[in-house]
Amino acid sequence: MPNQLQSFLFPNHAIRGCLVRLDTSLTEALAIRAYPSAIEVVLTDAILALLLLSHTLKQPNTISMQINGTENSSLKLLLAQCDYRHQFRCLATWRSDELTTDLQQLTGNATIVFTTYNDISQQMFQSVVAITENNLQHCLEHYFKQSEQIPTRFYLFKRGKQAAGLLLQALPDEREEMEDWQRINYLAATLTEQEIFTLDNDMILHRLFHEETVEMYGAKNISYQCKCSVKKMQQAVKLLGRDDADALLEEQGIIEVTCDFCNQQYRFDKTDIALIFANSVITDTPKNLQ
Ligand SMILES: [Zn+2]
Repeated sequence: MPNQLQSFLFPNHAIRGCLVRLDTSLTEALAIRAYPSAIEVVLTDAILALLLLSHTLKQPNTISMQINGTENSSLKLLLAQCDYRHQFRCLATWRSDELTTDLQQLTGNATIVFTTYNDISQQMFQSVVAITENNLQHCLEHYFKQSEQIPTRFYLFKRGKQAAGLLLQALPDEREEMEDWQRINYLAATLTEQEIFTLDNDMILHRLFHEETVEMYGAKNISYQCKCSVKKMQQAVKLLGRDDADALLEEQGIIEVTCDFCNQQYRFDKTDIALIFANSVITDTPKNLQ
């Protein structure tokens, strides 16, 4: 089923995996801006990789991937976030018409900042992934192997408005036999675009790994969901400070805040602003993932 992810395990080899397929949720995410096709390709890779990695995410955590292109690079910013319920949102901005899907060229050899964020404690853990390869999945594979000692492989597919991915990952702290890892990946690499977009997960796993024992877990829904809210935008206005907010009100008569992710506009008039600064609507200032 599209817009779902399904985890599985090879219990005899300490290897886990995940299958993800997207259609309408991806269309919704990409419809926010008129993305050039090269940006769509890179953003789709980021969404797929994040969703595949989210299959082990525990409540109340969110993971995000952020790339700030270097000065003069074609890509200015790419940001994708996904929470433990597999609700994701994303955005990308660019500064050139000469775009490529080669991640090194597109970003000027920037880095990928990978963050795991606890929505309750607001603690975050960040890893910096060097862009040493021409696509996102190979950069992440390199990072997991070198820094985490966790062999990881992504198989990503795109067809029209659909996208799909397969992840294989050796379990941490397990001594995976390299031979088993290579054999399972050799089999996974035979997966075709036609198969991943037309067969169901049972059939895909049977077709690839019918000589292996595979345990499948329940499928989980994926959705495109922005997390902006009036309360968060009130907090953003409060961060401006009373003087700046009053100056903006004086100039424009209203303060308008637009969510960078989903383009939703929030408007605050003089009464709203007075309330924001006067009472306890805002009790704390959240750390922002951006
Ligand atoms: Zn939003």
